[in-house]
Amino acid sequence: MASVGRPGSDELLFLPLGGAGEIGMNLNLYGHAGKWLMVDLGVTFGDEATPGIEVIMPDPRFIEERREDLVGIVLTHAHEDHLGAVPYLWERFGCPVWATPFTAAVLRRKLHETGLAGRVPILEVPLSGRFQAGPFEIELVTLTHSIPEPNALVIRTGAGTVLHSGDWKFDPEPLVGAPSDIDALRRLGEQNILALVCDSTNALVAGHSGSEAAVREELIRLFGRFNNRIAVACFASNVARLESVVHAALAHDRHVALVGRSMRRIVEAAQETGYLTGLPPFVSEHDAGYLPREKVALLCTGSQGEPRSALARIARNDHPQVTLEPGDAVIFSSRVIPGNEKAIGALQNDLARLDVEIVTAEDEPVHVSGHPAREELARMYQLVRPRIAIPVHGERRHLEAHARLAEECQVPLAIAAENGRMIRLAPGPAEVAAGLSIPSRTGRPLGARRRRCARPSRRSMRASGPMTRRSRRRRGSRCAAIFTPSAARSR
Ligand SMILES: [Zn+2]
Ligand SMILES: [Zn+2]
Repeated sequence: MASVGRPGSDELLFLPLGGAGEIGMNLNLYGHAGKWLMVDLGVTFGDEATPGIEVIMPDPRFIEERREDLVGIVLTHAHEDHLGAVPYLWERFGCPVWATPFTAAVLRRKLHETGLAGRVPILEVPLSGRFQAGPFEIELVTLTHSIPEPNALVIRTGAGTVLHSGDWKFDPEPLVGAPSDIDALRRLGEQNILALVCDSTNALVAGHSGSEAAVREELIRLFGRFNNRIAVACFASNVARLESVVHAALAHDRHVALVGRSMRRIVEAAQETGYLTGLPPFVSEHDAGYLPREKVALLCTGSQGEPRSALARIARNDHPQVTLEPGDAVIFSSRVIPGNEKAIGALQNDLARLDVEIVTAEDEPVHVSGHPAREELARMYQLVRPRIAIPVHGERRHLEAHARLAEECQVPLAIAAENGRMIRLAPGPAEVAAGLSIPSRTGRPLGARRRRCARPSRRSMRASGPMTRRSRRRRGSRCAAIFTPSAARSR
């Protein structure tokens, strides 16, 4: 493996090592003036295709070998696919980590559990804040998503300005936090943005993603239908959704109990940073068991059928404090993440065995996605007007659909990103840096939307191949790692 030269002072490079061609384990690098900036460092969770493997991470060797040139890591938000690998991989870099207060609070808890508390320099940035990271001048733009404090990053360099969207949607009523900063995006549209590196998760979904406010209204209505215990399964990190369940419970004179460790952890982090305040206190799992059935709502982890989660244990009658009985109801305020169908089916079978009524997003509108559907993507391009669109955060079909949409939105050039393939954004016309190609499964050179993007460059550049670290946790043993091409894995 030859090594890439240091990025020149007139160059702006983009290199994704995770999250481009898959949904999960995001790791993005920007190179300029001899330095690298990392945006996000996430994990993917193993599924039935990876038996015994819990956590999968991007292979960071490319940047590990250049750690002296890495100015730091900026975390866009607190989802696992954006910060989950920090506790596992930070020691390889030893660099500062920038994050907004809620993201920092979540990260501190994770670091505490892995014995790294106090060692990782976390630099808190206020919402809409600006800071300098080596030759990168960074400004946060508040967007909306399915967790507090999702940020896009404006990355300004001497070679051009990039908007890195992070995960986002345009929710006019996010319920927790401010709506997306449309004015800031419109101002960027006047600033000759070189490239928009953007979320592709729902690039195949027509229309608009919908609003958390509509889900709240539906939950309030739905709670009125049940006379016994109600359990709501949702992602713990969706703090607006948790608040909506509290509002639905209040409207029907119920107390809310948090069931599951990650639920309690997120609520702590949220309350510490000013969210979920002014609400009645949550009751403990223990006390929930003593309240009349019609006075209780349970907020549970386990919407994806995770066998050790609170809801799976309750469904198996294996939870020490909480039970469900015939006539109780479980609302899945969540979507089925592809790959989890069987686990969720098994969970719902266990619940059906208990004679519990099950409500899912297929039955009632109890969930909205946190990612932009096509109308929202189009609006983003109309506002920001970048010269180049770089779709990331999606499987290949999402990236390609997003690239085509960007072209329909009059973006002059769209280049679908691919893990391990460096894109030179400047100087000159953007191009996939030649010599970096990792053969794809189809043997077709990937990464360029137009032929001119893929032309050979005079400078041969290579990055470490798109490899995936898989960690297998066994009782009594430390993590073992096996390496396979990430092309073999997409979820
Ligand atoms: Zn994500
Ligand atoms: Zn996210």
